[in-house]
Amino acid sequence: MPGLTTNEATARLQRDGPNALPESGRKRRWAILFDVLREPMLLLLAAAAGIYMLLGDPQEASLLLASVGLVIGLTVYQEYKSERALQALRDLSSPRAHVLRDGVACVVPARELVVGDVILVAEGDRVPADARVLEGADLHVDESLLTGESVAVARPAGGDGLLHASTLVVRGRGSAEVVATGAQTAVGRIGTTLSTLQVERTPLQREMRRTVAVFALLSLATCVLMVVLYGLLRGDWLGAVLSGITLAMANIPEEFPVVLTVFLALGAWRMAKHNALVRRAPAIEALGAITVLCTDKTGTLTENRMAVAELDDTGTGQLIATAALACPPMSHDPVDRAVLDAAQRAGEAPEPAGWQRLREYPLSSRLPAYVQVWHRDNDRLVVAAKGAPETIAQLCGLDDAQLTDLHERMEAMTQRGLRVLATAVGELPGSATAELPEEPTGFRLQWRGLIAFADPLRDAVPEAVAEAQTAGVRVVMMTGDHAGTARAIAAQAGISHQADVVHGADVDGWDDSALAQHLGTTAVFARVRPEHKLRLVQALKQRGEVVAMTGDGVNDAPALMAAHVGIAMGGRGTDVAREAASIVLLDDNFVSVVRAIRLGRSIYDNIARAVRYILAVHVPITGLALLPLLAGSPPVLLPLHVVFLELIIDPACSIVLEREPPTNDLMRRAPRPPGQRLLDRITLLHALGRGVVMLATVVATYTIAVRAGAPHPQVSALAFTSLVVGNLGLILLHRSGGSLWRALRIPNAAFWIVVGATSTLLAAAILHPVVAGWFRFAPPGGDLLAVAVALPMMAVVAMDVLQQWTTRRKTTAMSVDAGAT
Ligand code: ADP
Ligand code: MG
Repeated sequence: MPGLTTNEATARLQRDGPNALPESGRKRRWAILFDVLREPMLLLLAAAAGIYMLLGDPQEASLLLASVGLVIGLTVYQEYKSERALQALRDLSSPRAHVLRDGVACVVPARELVVGDVILVAEGDRVPADARVLEGADLHVDESLLTGESVAVARPAGGDGLLHASTLVVRGRGSAEVVATGAQTAVGRIGTTLSTLQVERTPLQREMRRTVAVFALLSLATCVLMVVLYGLLRGDWLGAVLSGITLAMANIPEEFPVVLTVFLALGAWRMAKHNALVRRAPAIEALGAITVLCTDKTGTLTENRMAVAELDDTGTGQLIATAALACPPMSHDPVDRAVLDAAQRAGEAPEPAGWQRLREYPLSSRLPAYVQVWHRDNDRLVVAAKGAPETIAQLCGLDDAQLTDLHERMEAMTQRGLRVLATAVGELPGSATAELPEEPTGFRLQWRGLIAFADPLRDAVPEAVAEAQTAGVRVVMMTGDHAGTARAIAAQAGISHQADVVHGADVDGWDDSALAQHLGTTAVFARVRPEHKLRLVQALKQRGEVVAMTGDGVNDAPALMAAHVGIAMGGRGTDVAREAASIVLLDDNFVSVVRAIRLGRSIYDNIARAVRYILAVHVPITGLALLPLLAGSPPVLLPLHVVFLELIIDPACSIVLEREPPTNDLMRRAPRPPGQRLLDRITLLHALGRGVVMLATVVATYTIAVRAGAPHPQVSALAFTSLVVGNLGLILLHRSGGSLWRALRIPNAAFWIVVGATSTLLAAAILHPVVAGWFRFAPPGGDLLAVAVALPMMAVVAMDVLQQWTTRRKTTAMSVDAGAT
């Protein structure tokens, strides 16, 4: 069964089309547009334009309608950008298939499969297309997706049952020939699919909904107040409604949800660029709160590129040859590859001529050994096994003295971080139709010796471990490997230098309180099975930890789901693990996990910055809308002004703050407490306080201008200038860096673009005769203009100085505390 050639496969792909179902999740461009058109902001703009028409001012009305186009364009662009980011993620997370092409096993995107392809499936895979089993060992599938019944169904070679696309291989392995793809498959005909990217509401989004509701109410109340006051005081009800609409446009809290959507979508896209594929948006936030990171060893901390390093033969000279007999056909497993390579170098044929595979007993977490029965030419059977030395010892029935000797031999190898496997062999009479035991424990085998594999630590792992630890994240290793190997690798990685390692078997013997006690101090767990991982995760959560957990196997799925952030391996992981996880690592690398934590923290910080900025900036806008009413003068803020402000505010928060690089202490501070709200009372008051200060400068400018006897169009221009300059100041204050001076030096091109564009537009609005006319401004005198610009700038500097002073006092107080204890 050589499979297809690449050329043939390409031709068939051309003819039959991709192995994929028509997409449903993709948001079409017109759908985005439709969503945008329903936005309250645009409806208000249209209403305002209508009122101008009623007032007999078609010029103002057409200006507003023109700005409608601008706002739509901007919103569509933003939505399109997030949608494109999400689409890129979907493409990355699309399923893959193992297939024979030109006689070689390789991995291709599942959508490139064609009828006639020979695919290889194994435990934990989703079947990529409908296929007929050619050859298999213990192959079982779960077809609940099709039948609703979640039982494992056997699919032997030559049976009449097909492997159906999207069903799950729960046991065994095999190869199969594709008979139908895409819409032609059974699932395709029913139309059920598994969505790859789940769009769930994140805790932040839920908090945001409450916030938005509160602010919507508040702004509605101020608008009504405004309209009523205006109408009663001046009797001009049309003008009153116009002012109300203006205020409403300024104050609809639409920026909050926009910020979240854009920041989370772009955040997921940024994480994907760093090899962490986010499947569930809540994971992005949760990453910033992680306190314990449970990692597996092989392939995550280490390279997973095994090489035979040492042999401890019992004297038969058959060690490697036996190990080679205990490898499944066409294996991708690094251990098997290393064994076969070594056998080839020793001149051994992996499959002796005339021998036939009779039966496989695949590796399982319960019995970590691979056993294979061969039918030899002379009507004898050969049983070859390789696996965890304890397990092989059990199959060989070693006595106590032999076991002690074994431990001593292993000690020396595992100390250096080598992974040690044992091999054994047995010969028995029998034919190709012999009855074989159900479990490998039914054989009595002879010990052949130990093979040690070198699997070096990945580059930069010690640095990443140290970074996590500095960030207050405890790293815990949970591995199926031997305690000695686990201890050595943990020491190399800097996870733990303690001698004590807890065994999975120990965990079985402990009740929850004993387990809780050990969890506080133990950093290395060896010979753990997936069910141990689940129990450990649950116990950690019980202790109030926020847990991230990596995994790759079928049975890791429950633990991955139980963890706050489940992280599956994209390379060596099974489809089941990937589906259970909220993040999939594209490079299987531990370093990427730590980088994802860093990004998660940074994204959360930027969302917090944007939200505080939005809060602060609305105070002076509302104030300026109400001020003339109280002062008895004509309104300053008109709908067009609000459009101008929104054109700064929207890109400001979504582009400038989204790109803001993290602060220096990002990975030096403790994880965010899980219950922490984005807007607790202190941050709320703080943000509003900043807004009040900015409002004060606007009021001051307004008053100074009125006192100086400037006519209303000039007063308006001056107050508006103050407002816009203050707005830019607020963006600057909410950037990272910890101080104004540092924020100015942190590169963020978007900020300078916003500053440049805003200043130009502002200059045009107050100085250019035509544009000033649109805004109902008149060019003010130079000295008053200087005041309007300088006042908010001074306020920003003053707030920064105050902030520096309070943080310094806080840190001094803290170090005094630390010194006292
Ligand atoms: P880890 O948690 O380090 O990924 P695994 O669960 O992959 O560990 O493996 C657990 C044990 O199973 C190994 O220590 C080894 O003894 C055994 N094992 C792993 N791969 C093979 C293999 N290809 N053949 C035989 N035994 C294996
Ligand atoms: Mg493993």
